[in-house]
Amino acid sequence: MDLGITGRTALVTGGDSGIGWETARILLDEGATVVLSDQDADSLAEAAARLDAPEGRLHHVAADLSTDEAVKELAASVTDLVGDLDILVQSAGITGAQGLFHEIDDEGWTTTLTVDLLAPIRLTRAFLPGLRRGGWGRIVYLASEDAVQPYDDELPYCAAKAGVLAFAKGLSRTYAEEGLLVNCVSPAFIKTPMTDAMMEKRSKEIGSSVDEAIESFLDEERPYMELGRRGLPEEVASVVAFLCSDRASFVNGSNYRVDSGSVATI
Ligand code: NAD
Repeated sequence: MDLGITGRTALVTGGDSGIGWETARILLDEGATVVLSDQDADSLAEAAARLDAPEGRLHHVAADLSTDEAVKELAASVTDLVGDLDILVQSAGITGAQGLFHEIDDEGWTTTLTVDLLAPIRLTRAFLPGLRRGGWGRIVYLASEDAVQPYDDELPYCAAKAGVLAFAKGLSRTYAEEGLLVNCVSPAFIKTPMTDAMMEKRSKEIGSSVDEAIESFLDEERPYMELGRRGLPEEVASVVAFLCSDRASFVNGSNYRVDSGSVATI
């Protein structure tokens, strides 16, 4: 299926690895010009090199999205490089503070909410004027199954992602008639550095191999993931890319689950 985005400009945050990197790969294949962003300049440059993009169609700008100033600087750099954006994919995120509620202090909450909720809001504010100007735009936020099915050992992450869903839904009402469509994708347990780190921690805690930790996590913690395996980043990226496309012209204010059934309700 031709996604109809040849010549469109896109920013993908969290583009170093995982879902963001795979999304950038598809957008490039579909003819878009992509700016890849992440926090570490060296690994970002390596990630961009691995994309092996046609001359002039891939740029990379490092930014730590923890402050409004850095987000504004990113917006200025991106605009200098490619002009107004047509597509914003907000994939940067952290698991953040883990533990039961009484074990997480204010700093844990603040750090997690800053990256997982405030950064998407700040990015949207910074890029909105350009996204509106073109009369055609797409914003896709990576939320999570945790937004609607919270787990009690990562409440800051759950609350942030629930906030992303509420924010996206409200935002989708304001600019749709101008052609700017806003949607979310909510994955569960995808094979990326984020869950690699979780599974390494779990394997140490239960004294098992990483493979056994994954198997026991699926059995005990994610019983409704009917495919019985971690998802692959490209299995999420294909849905993100669809929502970035001209083919998704009547999709707005939606949350697409890519979780093999993990959320217990439909
Ligand atoms: P990932 O760790 O591969 O990618 C996340 C990227 O965000 C990393 O490259 C990281 O450097 C970047 N990042 C973190 N903090 C940042 C900051 N302050 N500034 C700039 N960049 C920052 O993880 P992923 O699995 O590809 O996650 C992508 C998105 O999908 C995240 O928003 C995550 O919450 C969401 N998600 C992932 C899963 C999963 O199972 N992997 C499940 C549900 C939701």
